[in-house]
Amino acid sequence: MKNELHKIVIVGGGAGGLELATCLGRKLGKTQRAEITLVDAQNTHFWKPLLHEVAAGSLNAFEDELSYLAQAKWNHFKFIPGQMASLNRAEKSIGLSPVIDASGHEVVPARTLTYDQLVISVGSTANDFNTPGAKEHCLFLDNRQQAERIHTTLINHYLHAQACNNETTRLRIAIIGAGATGVELAAELHFAAIELAHYGLDAIKPEDVEVTIIEGGERILPALPVRISSSVHKQLDNMGIRVITRQLVSEIKADGVTTRDGEFIESDLRIWAAGIKAPEFLSGIDGLKTNRINQLVVRPTLQTTLDDRIYSMGDCASCTLTDRKNERITIPPRAQAAHQQASLLAKSLIAQANGSTALAFNYRDYGSLISLSRFSAVGNLMGAMTGDMMIEGTLAKWFYISLYRMHQMTLFGKLRTGTLILKDLISRTTRPQLKLH
Ligand SMILES: Cc1cc2nc3c(=O)[nH]c(=O)nc-3n(C[C@H](O)[C@H](O)[C@H](O)COP(=O)(O)OP(=O)(O)OC[C@H]3O[C@@H](n4cnc5c(N)ncnc54)[C@H](O)[C@@H]3O)c2cc1C
Repeated sequence: MKNELHKIVIVGGGAGGLELATCLGRKLGKTQRAEITLVDAQNTHFWKPLLHEVAAGSLNAFEDELSYLAQAKWNHFKFIPGQMASLNRAEKSIGLSPVIDASGHEVVPARTLTYDQLVISVGSTANDFNTPGAKEHCLFLDNRQQAERIHTTLINHYLHAQACNNETTRLRIAIIGAGATGVELAAELHFAAIELAHYGLDAIKPEDVEVTIIEGGERILPALPVRISSSVHKQLDNMGIRVITRQLVSEIKADGVTTRDGEFIESDLRIWAAGIKAPEFLSGIDGLKTNRINQLVVRPTLQTTLDDRIYSMGDCASCTLTDRKNERITIPPRAQAAHQQASLLAKSLIAQANGSTALAFNYRDYGSLISLSRFSAVGNLMGAMTGDMMIEGTLAKWFYISLYRMHQMTLFGKLRTGTLILKDLISRTTRPQLKLH
């Protein structure tokens, strides 16, 4: 009788999970040394740091999505569509919810999948901290559907204003949270306002689009150095974007946002971009240790604290390490971290297939970059050659884009990534600067 292959199941094919499935498929799946299975709630992969561009319309999501089935076929792993809902550690199995279509029909029934090693990389969503009215009256930016919903809502405001021909039409947009997502989205919406008028949707003039960012902390971009935060703040001021700091949002209503200090910021569109939390279903799942934002607590090997067979990485994992200066650092929820963890885990799982023990993760912060749409980018580069160097403008923009190109390189290799860059350059000359539908 044929021996069963060792089963590695990866749940979540995002910035980290898809890179891992691709690497393991090429190294272990192709040579039949293990069966690699990727599970994702969606049928296509879309790199999350591009979502604010989809929301504003500067990027058409259809052009950058990747079919999981195709990637699986090309890279020797299996793809199973489904949403993980439960875990049975004793049986080494996970439970997937049924897949239901838009009209409520069951496409695929609930299923159980068994594993020998399990990697959970299901990412995170924004954290509304149960603020009253947030779920009902805010739009969110956690996945492609939500980004497209923001875009459709924006376009509909313009179409309405155009059809009603109202000379005093304004569009007031409130963004809650001045982290990287909120700031980049604000700049992208500012660009969209200019472009929409340029393409003839000029009933709302660019100067009548009032974008306000509301932040609870002392300053915008609290996770980044002060000099970057100050430089970005200045550029937002120049764009006419209003920034309110030290104001916690206490309630969201259908027509605006109330702060704890009692200020009411009227708005036609409200977008929640503050905080993160891992999906609820992870909280204490089958006795595993999780923190207050549902992240699975992992050791430096990215193994969960109670189960050596279960790994977690990316935004849904809480990983604290000791750095070279003997200081404790918590790995931030960033694409850069998910990418580095996926590379480590690929090496570690391959080493284990060859009889070695699990490898430990070391995080290298290469710096942070904030994109201000087509206008600019600001950030810092950190490395042995550069030290901690602040960069701005075209160079910063170039480094910002290179993060996505590195993700594509891991998924497709150098040659295909080169072809994709060429395709993007050519298609830029043949389509409008903004998605207008
Ligand atoms: C608008 C925006 C801009 C950003 N910009 C940057 C940036 O410039 N630089 C940077 O470093 N980071 C950025 N980030 C953060 C970055 O996107 C995340 O840190 C990164 O995507 C995390 O990768 P991940 O693999 O952990 O999860 P994700 O990339 O979020 O992938 C999670 C995957 O899991 C799937 N999934 C979720 N639940 C289930 C389930 N129950 N069952 C099965 N599948 C499931 C999802 O469909 C998804 O495919 C940005 C985030 C946003 C929202």
